[in-house]
Amino acid sequence: MRDKLVVGNWKMNGGLAANAKLLARLASEWTHRERRKLVVCVPAPYLGQAQAALSSGAVMWGVQDVSEHASGAYTGEVAAGMAAEFGCRYAIVGHSERRRLHGETDRVVGAKAAAALAGGLVPVACVGETLDERERGATEEVVARQVDAVIEALGAAMCRCVVAYEPVWAIGTGRTASPEQAQAVHALLRSRLAAAGAGDVSVLYGGSVKGSNAAALFAMPDIDGALVGGASLDADEFLTIARA
Ligand code: PEP
Repeated sequence: MRDKLVVGNWKMNGGLAANAKLLARLASEWTHRERRKLVVCVPAPYLGQAQAALSSGAVMWGVQDVSEHASGAYTGEVAAGMAAEFGCRYAIVGHSERRRLHGETDRVVGAKAAAALAGGLVPVACVGETLDERERGATEEVVARQVDAVIEALGAAMCRCVVAYEPVWAIGTGRTASPEQAQAVHALLRSRLAAAGAGDVSVLYGGSVKGSNAAALFAMPDIDGALVGGASLDADEFLTIARA
């Protein structure tokens, strides 16, 4: 049975005072629900703050990226094992902003997913096509290639991963894929995951998810939750999405 999961991605936003308010709201208003999980992926410097604010409640926390290496001369990088020491449970890997702005290839994303698992974190592996790729009919080819790279890197451990379909044209643009558009891609991802023995992996949708559109997306049979950027910075919006 697949878990329902909503993951917030704060991106490079936040500050001690604002985080304290947001984390306190989430901690007090989200209670444990069977097979329903709520996660916030905070900037790495705030992991200790997230741990202190959330460790006695039901909300979990994660990071937005990890190094593909476990330790060593990689200045500025954060290893999965380091994040795990702060009680962190999840790591986003392969976000389109990392692929586009930091040149992360499918191979690197696969290696980061493997490093996250090895360090004790659940990777949330992101895939998604650009507007140009969608317009020239390459959506299926692109997301299949991206998810196959993670499947190849993880092998049998793929069943311990989470996948997020995030069409790049919908991220931070206010333009959401329709539930039917998202479902079509989720079904494709599900069939590739099932063929790899990982059909029960949670597949999240991400891209301008808000309180007002979450329920329609979550009604689709292969959408198991959301990866939420902007709206995860607003407690009311984020909790409305989580409750949907
Ligand atoms: C994201 O950053 O993963 C994302 C989906 O952003 P937004 O919800 O703001 O589109």
